[in-house]
Amino acid sequence: MTTGKLKIHSENILPIIKKWLYSDRDIFTRELISNANDAIHKLKILRDKGQAEAKDEEFRIDIAIDKEGKTLTFSDTGIGMDAEEVEKYIAQIAFSGAEDFVEKYQTQNEQDQFIGHFGLGFYSAYMVADKVEIQTLSYKPDAKPVHWQCDGSPEYTLETGTREKRGTDIILHISSDNEDFLDASHLRQILKQYCEYLPHPIFLNDERLNEKEPLWMKSPSELTDNDYLEFYRHLYPMQEDPLFWVHLNVDYPFHLKGILYFPKLQKNIDLSKSSIKLFCNRVFVSDNCKDVIPEFLLPLRGAIDSPDIPLNVSRSYLQTDRTVRQLSSHISKKVADSLIHLYRNNRDKFLSCWNDLSVVVKIGAVENEKFYQKVKECLIWKKADKEWTTIEDYLELNKDKTNNKILYTIDAGQNTHLTDVYKQKGIDVLIADHPVDPYLINFLEQHIAPAAFKRLDSEIDETLIDKEREKTVLDSDGKTEAARLAEFIKSQLDEENIEVQAKSLAADQIPGIITMDENQRRLRDYMRAVDPSHQTHLMDKRTFVVNTNNPLIASIQKMNGKNPELAKDLVRQVLDLALLSQKEMDADSFSLFIQRSSRILEKLAGEAVED
Ligand code: ADP
Repeated sequence: MTTGKLKIHSENILPIIKKWLYSDRDIFTRELISNANDAIHKLKILRDKGQAEAKDEEFRIDIAIDKEGKTLTFSDTGIGMDAEEVEKYIAQIAFSGAEDFVEKYQTQNEQDQFIGHFGLGFYSAYMVADKVEIQTLSYKPDAKPVHWQCDGSPEYTLETGTREKRGTDIILHISSDNEDFLDASHLRQILKQYCEYLPHPIFLNDERLNEKEPLWMKSPSELTDNDYLEFYRHLYPMQEDPLFWVHLNVDYPFHLKGILYFPKLQKNIDLSKSSIKLFCNRVFVSDNCKDVIPEFLLPLRGAIDSPDIPLNVSRSYLQTDRTVRQLSSHISKKVADSLIHLYRNNRDKFLSCWNDLSVVVKIGAVENEKFYQKVKECLIWKKADKEWTTIEDYLELNKDKTNNKILYTIDAGQNTHLTDVYKQKGIDVLIADHPVDPYLINFLEQHIAPAAFKRLDSEIDETLIDKEREKTVLDSDGKTEAARLAEFIKSQLDEENIEVQAKSLAADQIPGIITMDENQRRLRDYMRAVDPSHQTHLMDKRTFVVNTNNPLIASIQKMNGKNPELAKDLVRQVLDLALLSQKEMDADSFSLFIQRSSRILEKLAGEAVED
């Protein structure tokens, strides 16, 4: 027997491994199984070169639990090690790897978490074990079995071992506070998570754990829609089927394979959370791809596998890593291509998915210029007549009629009285009711200038005016009938911030419209979004445009002499109805509106009974 000493640089790293990595104890399973997998892989290469003998059926990894002996054994039929290799790979290389890792890990602050813990390797076993033994027999023809053991102190022993067949057993003597790993169902769940897609058979107490071939390794031409759906259901059980998917397969200048699915979006979806699974050579690394794929694609699901993502580095490093940036831009390009493909080749399906897709496409366009340039062809808007259009097509068809303006409403349902007027004149109105639309509109205007978006109620457009019925005749005081009406309405409202105008609107049924300058309203909405407590009422400078052609307005004006109270209530009611239909009413005004409505109805009912 020989004894040796691990070369400790600063202090004994094993207690540090336990302390620092405590929250991630599970990963020792991944590290040991990856080593076993590599050992088999190396043997296969030697076999293929004719330097070792082995049959495919022999390759397997076994995990055995001994509850009484409190051990967990990871066995493989891989390349094995002789005494010299154990000294070199375990006592020197693996140890210094672990030491490096611990040093890096210690200097990171806690927010700056590591994406994975690859590189810790063999010594991660000490996260759960007091003592680790290795029984190994090298593939080399005259090799002797070797037995190594180390109880976590810097000393280890090396002697002749007992293993009779080529391969390695790593025996973990589980420490008393980690006995949960001796529970088969607990261990099974962890092993399945990390190792389900590894290529060589893995057994826990003789039960096979990894029968699924990872779909991303296959060629898309071999796969049916059903294969993709089955795989999705397996990754995300009990979830609705995805809308469609993108199969990624790159070999240059980096390696990347994967399948990304567009899910049906849940309400209240958290756009900052990722549930795309990250793998490295089929070994599960993380449930969180946050720093590897562009942020706007985080709502997607699926799996990506790349050996080129540096896993044992901190998140902040990842964001500046060149390969990761290339990978991220490749993924967004592929996603854009598949969106365009679907739009061109299966328009009905694209439209039926748009509700779920649009948030990703819109945020992606605003955040990533290249993505925008690709997807602008399929960045569609619904029109008030329920048809779909792109901005390019809209401008092509309407630009002369609207003077390069893109007219939009935030609620087609409530604004039909306005949209109908435009419809009659053959002018399209877009519906921009998505929370991302204000940002998208700002972004698009930088690309489509001098064209610009204008909300229907930002001004009274020429289109809405009936010139023939304008009240332009001056009375003895030099005032028009319209000016008198405006004065009367203003006198009924105690509102400093509201200017009143009277105009001849083409649609007689509209009593009044509230207008607010487009830029001013955008600024106000922006301030509200940034800080909801911000006092924006001073910015609420609006114009109340009453319709000189509306019978109700005419009656109110006449009624004033007879029933001034009702006239005042009705003016306010007309104003509130305009605010309500334009989604501009605040909570206080709403309760007053309800009270006033009852008062008016009561009065009307009373009068009807008296008659
Ligand atoms: P890494 O796997 O990143 O190289 P490890 O600390 O996990 O680092 O292992 C160090 C080395 O020990 C491996 O590179 C390998 O040569 C050897 N080794 C570990 N486990 C096994 C095993 N089960 N069979 C054969 N060799 C192994």
